[in-house]
Amino acid sequence: MISLHDSVAKLHLVNQDCAIALKRLNIITVEDLLYCFPRDWQDLSEIKPIAEIKPGEKVNIRAKLKSIKHHRSPRRRMHISTGLLEDLTGNIVAVWFNQPFLKNSLNTGKNYYFSGKAQIYADKKGGQTLQLQSPTFELVKEETIHTAGIIPVYELTEGLTQKQLRDFLKQGLAALPEIADFLPQTLRKSLNLADLQSAIRNIHFPSDKDSLESARRRLAFDELFLFQLAFLSYKRKLKILPAPRFVFNTSLVKKFVESLPFKLTGSQRIAAWEILKDLAENHPMNRLLEGEVGSGKTVVAGIAMLEVAKAGFQSVLLAPTEILAWQHYQTLKELFKNTGLDIALLTRSHKIQPPTSNFQLPIIIGTHALLQERVKFSRIGLLVVDEQHRFGVKQRAQLTRGQKLVPHLLSMTATPIPRSLALAFYGDLDISQLRELPKGRKKIITRLVEPQKRKIAYEFIKKEIQKGRQAYVVTALIGEEDSPPPNLPHQGGGKGANSPPLMGGDRGGGEGEIKAAITESEKLKKIFPEFVIGLLHGRLPGGEKKKIMEEFSAKGGSASGGKSSRIDILVSTTVIEVGVDVPNATIMVIENAERFGLAQLHQLRGRVGRSDLQSFCLLFAENASEITKNRLEAVVKSNDGFELAEIDLDIRGPGEVLGQRQSGYIPFKIAKLSDRAMIKLAKSTAEKILDQDPNLAGAPLLKQKIESLSRDIHLE
Ligand code: ADP
Ligand code: MG
Repeated sequence: MISLHDSVAKLHLVNQDCAIALKRLNIITVEDLLYCFPRDWQDLSEIKPIAEIKPGEKVNIRAKLKSIKHHRSPRRRMHISTGLLEDLTGNIVAVWFNQPFLKNSLNTGKNYYFSGKAQIYADKKGGQTLQLQSPTFELVKEETIHTAGIIPVYELTEGLTQKQLRDFLKQGLAALPEIADFLPQTLRKSLNLADLQSAIRNIHFPSDKDSLESARRRLAFDELFLFQLAFLSYKRKLKILPAPRFVFNTSLVKKFVESLPFKLTGSQRIAAWEILKDLAENHPMNRLLEGEVGSGKTVVAGIAMLEVAKAGFQSVLLAPTEILAWQHYQTLKELFKNTGLDIALLTRSHKIQPPTSNFQLPIIIGTHALLQERVKFSRIGLLVVDEQHRFGVKQRAQLTRGQKLVPHLLSMTATPIPRSLALAFYGDLDISQLRELPKGRKKIITRLVEPQKRKIAYEFIKKEIQKGRQAYVVTALIGEEDSPPPNLPHQGGGKGANSPPLMGGDRGGGEGEIKAAITESEKLKKIFPEFVIGLLHGRLPGGEKKKIMEEFSAKGGSASGGKSSRIDILVSTTVIEVGVDVPNATIMVIENAERFGLAQLHQLRGRVGRSDLQSFCLLFAENASEITKNRLEAVVKSNDGFELAEIDLDIRGPGEVLGQRQSGYIPFKIAKLSDRAMIKLAKSTAEKILDQDPNLAGAPLLKQKIESLSRDIHLE
């Protein structure tokens, strides 16, 4: 007998190398192993008579091994095994390459299931034969796990094969005592959900399609439901923590709003009002401010910061990058110039600190990393967090060590998050949305440029720049294929809700992306010798990045600078994705647009169109299929980020909609976040349970589950 919390190393055949490989897949305990769900299932339940096999088909046969020969190829000394397989209808040759161990594992005269692809090969005599290519095989016995049935296909890592994983799982399932179900039986019955034990068994080795489906339904429900439950109980806990209370200072806010050089949009007013109302409560706010690039989130946050500052508390704004911190600093300095408030900027390469002591500074802006590591504050009333949607009580506590009152939290994001996704991902977080852009913005003209029109596009860019405008050219990660690793079977549905987004590594920082940007900038220097080409990527030191951004911003301002201190075309990785604001830049070129999600393309496009000048977005997608091109047409047609995000959610899953940084937190392996009905069911069930039994006293296993989940997803 083994238990769920035992190490996988306890299983037979899991040696040290396997254990290390499994650890790379985050599998340490037997429980981790069971919860390592297949990324796909291969239906091999249909056995094909040999006589009916057609070329190009993936087949599963049941046959006797009549004979097998092992030899080495003359030149490359490759091991080749050739077997003759026979069933009642006929025979076929199977060939394996470089599998010398087959000598021991395949025995003549025995019956096996073989599954693999049939292909035509030309033989030496000019004839053609149909062969099975390196088929998987398994001895015919009562229960099989690799062939003849619905076969699980797992995400692999080096040093681990499908066969091994399946064997480990089979063992784990066999050796376990019954898995206790944390869902109360009455609840399970009323929702018509499978019990946990059989769900886990059937997700790996389903006896048929229906049992797979009900396993999937149960496990998907679990993920969403537990998450909702954790969120809701967290929210109830927050409600009893003490926070500083800021009574709505009407005259202060009114005066400030009137001093602005523009009129607030309707949704800015509503959002500001929602936030100020939260600040007037004596428990901490937990609100997300969503608004597309350019929708004016900063001024909304600014209003809240102003009120907090005037009440004698500090506001801290955390930005994800140095560039963004620096820009927030500029924007707020401008907005607050008549308020008499001092603003400090603190990043790795900057330390702008007005001559008051740290203690008294009303507004401090910095990067997440630096502020969290280095600075302890004593009187924070409001934390504004830009583009990091998750920021728990623990992180707040880290910043405010020694402070009795928990600060209010406002997160901001330019990612339009579809309602269903927000619900699943943030539970009951309060959300304010800025759905309209400030007036006077022209619609950006977007085009998908055919390869043969590239020259014309360059001519067009040249003319615009000669008129004094500027352009961005964004490059994507290239050279990494959008397909599963070669030797894995891949059947439809593999790219489900949980596939990682295409962009490898940290956005804008990965080696491949940087290489692509450097290559592109060299190319453009040749095409546009008369213009200054700048290069920006995540690996540049902060000071350098800032200098480049300043040079790029400077051109549009005054007629300043000679050729050396201005940039006409800025080639960049996606580091410019969020928040950059250069109104004179009116052209956005996106190379390999097929590699981006629609929502991300929309965000990139938002870098232009920031003034009353007509702006353009040119998408190049030379390697894209027709289907991909059709997908890109959505960006050409629609300017609504929420709409594009909804499409992305269905096509590419939540990783794409939320972006790399956020998707790291997605705790769902099997739940489809596009399954809106399931999300609703999970939420209403969680609410009902908490209403009836707030402390989950009647469901101790469930309570345990929630506690460990809350730790894992950093709710606190
Ligand atoms: P984002 O939501 O992308 O962070 P910002 O807050 O940086 O947008 O605002 C973009 C620009 O729009 C800033 O220059 C800001 O001063 C300006 N702005 C904000 N609100 C309005 C408004 N209501 N009318 C006109 N301009 C505005
Ligand atoms: Mg911004």
